[in-house]
Amino acid sequence: MQALITGGAGFIGSHLAESLLADGAGVTVVDNLSTGYLKNVQHLLDHPRFRMVVETVTNEIVMDRLVAESDVVFHLAAAVGVELIVQDPVRVIETNVLGTRAVLKAAARYRRRVLLASTSEIYGKSEAIPFSEEADRVLGPTTKSRWCYSTSKAVDEFLALAYHQQIGLPVVICRFFNTVGPRQTGQYGMVVPRFVKQALREEPITVYGDGLQTRCFCDVRDTVRAVRTLAARTDINGEVFNVGATYEVSIVKLAECILEAVQRRGPGAQHRGKDRIQFISYAEAYGKGFEDMRRRAPDIRKINTLTGWQPEIPLKDTIEYILEDHLHGKAFTD
Ligand code: UDP
Repeated sequence: MQALITGGAGFIGSHLAESLLADGAGVTVVDNLSTGYLKNVQHLLDHPRFRMVVETVTNEIVMDRLVAESDVVFHLAAAVGVELIVQDPVRVIETNVLGTRAVLKAAARYRRRVLLASTSEIYGKSEAIPFSEEADRVLGPTTKSRWCYSTSKAVDEFLALAYHQQIGLPVVICRFFNTVGPRQTGQYGMVVPRFVKQALREEPITVYGDGLQTRCFCDVRDTVRAVRTLAARTDINGEVFNVGATYEVSIVKLAECILEAVQRRGPGAQHRGKDRIQFISYAEAYGKGFEDMRRRAPDIRKINTLTGWQPEIPLKDTIEYILEDHLHGKAFTD
């Protein structure tokens, strides 16, 4: 099998590339290295079944050729991260909408199956926890750029489902909830790599708001397994699946877990207590009027019922995995 991974030099994409190569597939990665890093796939560059194309996913001519050469497309390229969304909404909207358009157009021409990466941001600030795939979306106004990411990914989903409905294009949509693991960068706001970096550098841990907001953090190895499970099920098309962990943890508790793990394993292992946590207002972190989600948790019954997939790796093991990589591996630390 020849797989094309858009955004394959990114965090999830590079783990997916490794996993596919390990199972004998050929993998082409297309990535413009804007939020992805060559370093993430450096160790794959000499692999005989791996090919790296440095190009933007919005380039329709290149995408046409790459999709034609592939059996399946994993479309992960997107502008993500709350900080980036707030700072550069033009880039977010254009990359996400035009990139997906280019991928789907080519996939339609060659009738290739597409697994489209989407996001829990689709549900916006809905409070109907846990979010199920058919639940209503609740978004803020267009004057708040925070919501452009959710809307851009919703357009991606609409377009993919429309191609499925109108010409029978085989598409599957994976709505990733908070996903964590080695190689995730904290540069665009993601909380776990930021806290790990801060803890290792003995800097204050910057908890936004009161820290009682909750998230469910899914280990990237579980996420990749979910995507591959859905990729293997060629009988399932035109469907949307939540992919995420179900264990809810508050951000302040997450900060404590990371501090404890660093204390156990980090160099020096001095006492690093709860006083290391610094609370910062949302206005200070993201600018005035920023709306955060109080809770976010997926309903994963659909993927579980249809494929048997469920997350298996507990958060403490994921934190160890990330720390191990930071301390002894080849993690990218920004
Ligand atoms: N967060 C935080 N400190 C940081 C970065 C993020 O307290 O340095 C919080 C953020 O406000 C949110 C949670 O951690 O409540 C998860 O943030 P992230 O950007 O990782 O994901 P998302 O907001 O998309 O769930």
